Order: sequence, then structure tokens, then C-alpha cells
Amino acid sequence: MYEVRFHGRGGQGAVMAAQALAEAAVLEGYYAQAFPYFGAERRGAPVRAFARIDEDKISIKSQIYEPDMLVILDESLLDIEPVAEGLRSGGKVVINSTKTPEKVDLGVEVDCASVDATSIALETIKAPIVNTSILGAFAKIEDIIPLESILNAIMNRFGEKLGHQAGVMNSEAARLAYERTVVGRCRGTRKLVERMQWLPTWDELPPGTALPAKTIDGVDVGPGSAWQNFTGTWRTSSPRYLKEKCIRCLRCWFSCPEGCIDRLDDDYEKWDYRYCKGCGICADVCPVQAIEMIRGVHEW
Ligand code: SF4
Ligand code: SF4
Repeated sequence: MYEVRFHGRGGQGAVMAAQALAEAAVLEGYYAQAFPYFGAERRGAPVRAFARIDEDKISIKSQIYEPDMLVILDESLLDIEPVAEGLRSGGKVVINSTKTPEKVDLGVEVDCASVDATSIALETIKAPIVNTSILGAFAKIEDIIPLESILNAIMNRFGEKLGHQAGVMNSEAARLAYERTVVGRCRGTRKLVERMQWLPTWDELPPGTALPAKTIDGVDVGPGSAWQNFTGTWRTSSPRYLKEKCIRCLRCWFSCPEGCIDRLDDDYEKWDYRYCKGCGICADVCPVQAIEMIRGVHEW
């Protein structure tokens, strides 16, 4: 399995780059998949996209946490995200940068291809959409997919979607980038920035989406209209909570798709069975088997 993680900003075409790479892999006889992950969906916001390539059918559907290759469409992301996080030992990097690889500080020292993809994109397609330029650089450092297949995939994908001329211009961007890419080793002195995340403590556990609204620190945290859908009627198994085993890790609360787990001060947790659809996710994620799924529609 060969896995590529793309880091870009909304509007740079990271998703199309992942799709074109996957299509190129298929042209080479591989199985492949490509999909995006969006945060706040707006132009300029950090975006990730993923491509998996294998000789066999691919059944994994998760994001890519330990890529073989990182493709960075915007160098400034290194200052705000732990972009190099999880890169496999022996992994490689392609980066849109005006610097040579030796001057790029990624936080890990690895083989690196750098190319001024923004200038090439402005020169060829007259817009700072660097996705096809960066694929040319990919072909320079990685031989799993030859440039010719990448160019064909670009022609197919961009030609179909944006017209033949767009396919030609984007192919030209990739070809130019291939010629201008510099391959070397990047530096690993930078400390990776820490990923920002919100993790409530047990005492801050807010209500789930199916539970009544509460006001926390003056902010209304409410269920919207989810309370109208009694998803509990779907249930064929019911989660039973074993309080004495619970270590209060909150994994079940985070994972419940219906938000029907809430906290009681004395009894730790309670389930709102009107909304529990019996999917069993809470039991699956519990690290100490404090939830067991019992066949049938029950309430405890
Ligand atoms: S089985 Fe667990 S995860 Fe699934 S809806 Fe019920 S409480 Fe939530
Ligand atoms: S996942 Fe298990 S241990 Fe963690 S809070 Fe839920 S029931 Fe308790």
C-alpha cells in the first residue's frame, strides 16, 4: 500500500491533485482511491486530501495518518499545522517553495522535491492553482507513476471537467514543473506545531445533540431539531452501562453518532434510549468493556 497525503489551502486544488494522481495510478494498472478532508470550507482554509494506491483492492476507508509521501501545496502551512506528522521512515516530500530542498525546514530530514509551483501555475494557467504543477514535481521524486501517466490523467480529468484547452494548459504546468523541480534533502530542525483540538473534561461534558438544551458559560448548547427524530425506534440491541468498570475517558460520548450519552453526577453516565439506535459504537470504543450490547430493546 502506498499512501499520499496532500496539504493545501481551499482553492489550490489539493482534491483534484489527489484525484488526478489516483487516476494516473489506475492508468498504470493499480487500484487507487482519493478523497478529501475539509475543515472550515472556505477559500484559503487548510485542506487535506488523500490518495491510496495498491496492487490489490483497497478496503481501508480512513484518513491517512502515516503517509509514504507528503505533498505540500502551500509552504505557509508548516507554521500552523503539524504537516510532517506521521510521515513514515524513508518517506518523501514534495513542496511548493521557492527554496531549494536544503533550505526547506520541514521538521524531519527526508528526501524532498521543491518546485516554485505558484510561478509555474501563474505562467501556464494564469491562476495560482498549483495542483497540476505539484504533480509534475511528484513524478520527479517518485517513480511509482511515470510522468506520462500523470499527464494523461490530467488531460482526462481537467479536460473533461474544464474543457480540452484547460487540460492542455494543466498538462503543460506539470511538464514544466517536472523540468524545474530540484531534488535533495530537506532539514529537520523545526519543531512541529501542536495540533489544536477541543477536549472537554468530564466536568465539562456538554449535552448530546438529542438531549435538551443547556446554557454553559452563557452559551446555549442545544440539540437543534435532532430531538424530533426518535432514532431509538431502529434499535435491535441496547447498550448496557457497567458503572463499576467505567474510567470516565469519554470515548463513548465522543463517538456516539446520536449524542444520546449524558452524564449524571452520581451514576456517571446515562443513555437517552429514545435516541439510541443500537449501533454499538460506544461499546466498541470503550477501552475497559464498560458497555455491553444486549440483543433486544431494553432500557436500564
Ligand atoms: S449504541 Fe451507543 S453509540 Fe450507538 S446510538 Fe446507542 S449510545 Fe450511541
Ligand atoms: S468509553 Fe467506557 S470507560 Fe470511557 S466513559 Fe464511556 S463507558 Fe466509561
